[in-house]
Formats: sequence, structure tokens, C-alpha cells
Amino acid sequence: MTSDNSVQVSVLGLGAMGSALADALVKAGYATTVWNRSPGKADGLVARGAAAAGTADEAVRAGRVVIACLLDHASVHEVLDPLAQELTGRTLINVTTTTPEQSRELAAWAADAGIAYLDGGIMAVPSMIGQPGSSILYSGSAEVFHQYKPLLDLWGTSTYFGEDAGLASLYDLALLAGMYVMFAGFVHGAAMVAPAGVTASEFASRAAPWLSAMTGGFQGFAEVIDGGDYTVEGQQSLEFSDLGDIVTASSDQGISTEVIAMVQNLIQRQIDAGHGAEGFARIIESIKTPA
Ligand code: NDP
Repeated sequence: MTSDNSVQVSVLGLGAMGSALADALVKAGYATTVWNRSPGKADGLVARGAAAAGTADEAVRAGRVVIACLLDHASVHEVLDPLAQELTGRTLINVTTTTPEQSRELAAWAADAGIAYLDGGIMAVPSMIGQPGSSILYSGSAEVFHQYKPLLDLWGTSTYFGEDAGLASLYDLALLAGMYVMFAGFVHGAAMVAPAGVTASEFASRAAPWLSAMTGGFQGFAEVIDGGDYTVEGQQSLEFSDLGDIVTASSDQGISTEVIAMVQNLIQRQIDAGHGAEGFARIIESIKTPA
């Protein structure tokens, strides 16, 4: 394990996130070289002690560990493909958001070129980097993860999921799926009350504690799903969970029913299949089997 900050690190990509990651490295005393496609973004980091590279090639040559924090999978290939030879024998940690298949593809590309590869999924916004609550998920090379854990821990809590490079991304995107559907649910509620003269801010002050309290139900749903028995006593049944009133009230308010109808459809498919008396967690069967 590299427990000191003597390793030379290069950061490719100085967008909002790449800058925050590089800043944490510089603050911790790592010799950090930074590169960005468009000029001007390195100035603040250079003032704080980073070295600016004029090209990605120069940055890669300067680093034992190369961090890629670019826009997407295509931009990672665009930048790194011409540099495969320079990267050989070095370590690449890619924290750019990609799909699991894209992460696996990049891991295979790296393996072919003799590059040690770790994939990361950042569960934080830039202002959270290095602060409590920041969490970064990793998969790929266990050796890289353990060797550079002190460096990774500068950014947030580091969790390793295994050698399959796609796993961190899979968790990342699954968690984001939950977040976006929750956000859509909140915004739907705000749209419902808006015609009654209720501001979104007022609604948010009620929705936040309500939704936080409801997350207490996740574990119960999870136990039913993992047990595979949706008839276990004490569950709210699918028939009881009928969302017809919410759909109707949404229509009556003159707003779209898309968000709530999506959940109602998942429930209805299970009721139609004869499982109405079973628990709400059974909607996972609708999700697992596309209509
Ligand atoms: P930004 O849009 O702020 O920055 C994007 C970066 O990618 C810039 O440095 C940009 O360079 C570079 N870039 C884009 N296309 C290319 C290309 N073809 N070749 C070279 N460089 C390119 O994004 P963020 O920094 O916020 O995000 C970076 C990654 O981090 C993304 O994958 C994102 O999903 C992930 N992430 C971001 C979070 C956030 O809250 N911001 C949260 C979690 C993950 P240029 O300046 O020249 O345009």
C-alpha cells in the first residue's frame, strides 16, 4: 500500500469534478500534473502547486498514476487511445461516468496494453469531494485499489466491489436510477400542489422529511425480495397500493400523469397476473420482466 504522497499523479480533465479531485491531491501534497483539452482551466491549480501539461501525452508521461475524469466513454477513448504505449506499465484510474459494459471494454483495452486499471463511480458532487458524505465506488484491479487506497480516500469513502470492472458503474447507475425516480416523484408532487398556490419550496419542506422517513421501508422490501415470498404476512398488498386516486387527482390538477402512471402500471401488471393480494415489493417482478 502506498501510504505516502510520493507517487506522481496526473489528472486528465479539469471540468468541475476533475478540478475538485486534482485540488484534493495538491492539498495533500501529491506531485500533481494536470491537463485539460481547453486552456485556462489549470490556472487555479497551478497557483496552488500543480504542474500544467501542454498535452495529454505530456501529462501521462509525468504520472505513475493517471486519473481520467472526462465527460464520457467516447472522450476517454479519444484522449487515451493514441497514448496506449505511454500508459503501458502505468496505472489508470478512470472515474469518468460510463456504463458497466463501457467500463469492462476499457478494462479489456487496458489489459491488452499492459495498463493496470481501476474503474470508479463518484457518488458526490464536486463540492463534496474530500468532505464527509462523499463516496466513491471502485472495481477492477484489487492491487491498484489497495495500493492507492490512501490517495483514493482523499476524495471520500472508497469502496471496492471486485475484479469485474463494470461493478462500480453498475452500483453507481443503479443508485442514480433510484435518485432520479425519487426526484421525479418529488417534482410530480410539487406540480400537483402548484395549482393550489403552494410553492415548490413549501412543498419541499414537507417532502424531504416524508421521503427520508419512507426510506426506512427499503430494508423490509429487500427482505421480502431476497426471500422471494411476496405472501409473507404484514405487507401492504398490491390491491391496497392501487394508485388510481393519485392518477385521478393529478389529472384533476391538469398535470401529466406519466410519473405516477409508471408506478401504477407496474402494480397493475402484477394484479392482472393474479397477485393482487401479495405485497408491494412484487412490482420488482414487473420490472424484471419487460412488458
Ligand atoms: P464537466 O462538463 O465540468 O467537464 C467535462 C470535462 O471533460 C472537461 O474537462 C472537458 O474538457 C472534458 N472533455 C469533454 N469532451 C472531451 C474530449 N472529447 N476530449 C478531451 N476532453 C474532453 O464535467 P464534470 O467534471 O462535472 O464531470 C466529469 C465526469 O465526472 C463525468 O463523467 C461525470 O459524469 C462525472 N461525475 C460528475 C459529477 C458532478 O456532479 N459534476 C458527479 C459524479 C460523477 P473541456 O474543458 O475542453 O471541454
